[in-house]
Amino acid sequence: MNLGMLKLFKLFIISLFIQNLFANTQSFDFDFIKKGIQDDNTLLIVGGIQGDEPGAFMAASLITTHYEIKKGSVWVVPNLNFYSIIKRSRGPFGDMNRKFAALKMNDPDYTSIQRIKKYIKSPDVKVILNLHDGSGFYREEHIDWSHSPNRWGQSSIIDQSNLDIEAYGNLEDISKEVCAYVNENLIKPKHYYSVKNTHTKMGDKEMEKTLTYYAINNGKAAFGNEASKVLPLHERTYYHLVALEKYMKIMGIEFERKFELNSLAVKNVINNDIYISFYDEKIQLPLSEIRNILKYFPIKKDGTLEFTPSNPLMTIIKKNGTYMIHYGNRKLASLKPDYLDMDHEQKTVSINIDGEQKTVTLGSIIDVEKSFEIEPLENFRVNIIGFVQKGKKDESGVKVSKNKILKRYSIDRNGKIFRVEFYKDKKFAGMILVNFDKNRKMREDISLASSKEKSVTTSL
Ligand SMILES: [Zn+2]
Repeated sequence: MNLGMLKLFKLFIISLFIQNLFANTQSFDFDFIKKGIQDDNTLLIVGGIQGDEPGAFMAASLITTHYEIKKGSVWVVPNLNFYSIIKRSRGPFGDMNRKFAALKMNDPDYTSIQRIKKYIKSPDVKVILNLHDGSGFYREEHIDWSHSPNRWGQSSIIDQSNLDIEAYGNLEDISKEVCAYVNENLIKPKHYYSVKNTHTKMGDKEMEKTLTYYAINNGKAAFGNEASKVLPLHERTYYHLVALEKYMKIMGIEFERKFELNSLAVKNVINNDIYISFYDEKIQLPLSEIRNILKYFPIKKDGTLEFTPSNPLMTIIKKNGTYMIHYGNRKLASLKPDYLDMDHEQKTVSINIDGEQKTVTLGSIIDVEKSFEIEPLENFRVNIIGFVQKGKKDESGVKVSKNKILKRYSIDRNGKIFRVEFYKDKKFAGMILVNFDKNRKMREDISLASSKEKSVTTSL
C-alpha cells in the first residue's frame, strides 16, 4: 500500500457542543478541487448530485486523490450533494438534478445550486460532465424490462446533437467517440455503451431542469455519463473513469493515474487506500478492514474533534455519544470517545523494532515482523491496547510479540494492527499503530497536505 499517493486535503473540526440538527447544512458543503494548471480549456467533473449513485461520486473522488493532471486544467466537485451521500438517499430535499431551472430561495439546496452554477458559467470551463449511476441498460430498441430506451445505465447522455459554440459543440460526435472508447475497454461485452440523446429542447420538461441543460443554455458543452446500477460499485467506477479519461484526451488534458485501470485495481483503491488522521496527526487510522467499533478512542476534553480524511467522501458525524466515520454511502466505524487532555510537546519516541532501534513519530504506523519494545520515557506511560502484564501500568521496556496481545483488541478485523498509546501524566500524547501484517506494508512517511480548514457541526 502506498500512502504517499494520498492527498489529504482538509481539516475538519467538530465541536462537541453544537448539537442542533440540520441547523447548519453548511457542514455538508460540497468540495471544489482544482487540479492541474489553470487554463481556459478546463474540464468540470461533477459527481454526487444524487447520493445513491456511488459509482459516480467514487470516480470523481478518485480523480482528486489518485490522478495528477500534467497538462491542462480539471475542476472536480466529487460530492455535489454531500448530505444525500451521507444519508444514502437520492435527494433528502428532493432531486437536486431538477433544481437548475426555477428554484425557490428557501430551498435547502439553494446555496449549493448557486455555487455550482457559478463554476459552470466560469469562462474557463469548456466541458462539463455530470456523472450518474443509472437504472438498467439504455438500449435503442426495447429488449426487455431492464434493457430498453427508458433505461439510463451504460450510456453517454446529450441534450441535443450540436451546440453553436467555439469548441466542443459537436456533442453527438464527442459522445460517440467516448462510447467507442469505452466499448474498446469493456469488462463484459454486454456492458456496451451507447449515446442517449434526450432531445431536451423538443419539450422534455424533466430534462429542462437538469444541470447539463443549464450548462447547454449557458453555452457550455455538457454531457452526462451513466454507469449501470446493476453493476457492482467498482465496475461502475471503472466505467466512469474510462469515460473521463477519454474526455480528457479529447480536450488535450494530460494526466498520470496512480494505479492500473482495471476493475480489480479500482476495487482495491476504493476499499484499501483510505485513511483518516486526528489531531495534527497524533493518530492515523487505516480504514481498510477497520472494526465496526473502536472503544476508548482519544478525543479532546474540550469537546473538539479535529480530523483530516484521505478523500472528500469522508466525514465524521457525532450521534448518541459516538463518532461515526462515514465514507460515501458506507459507515466505516464508530468511535466511542475517551475524553482526554492532550499533550502537544512530545513528537517522537524510540522503539526497538525486530532488534533495530528506531525513532518513530507519534501518529505513525510501524511494520513489525516479530516483536517491538518501547523505550521508557520519563514521565510517560505507555499503554499497548490488548497487552496485559500483571502489576505493570507502564508497558514500555517490555519486548512484545504478536501472540502477547489479545487479537480482539486490534483495530482491524484481521487481528493484525494494534494501538500503542502514549500518556504524559494523564494527557494523551499520541498513538502509534503496530502492524503485524506482512502482506500489508505501511509507510511511515505519510505526508498530509491539508489545504483548507473547515468546521463542522455534528449530528444528522
Ligand atoms: Zn443520477
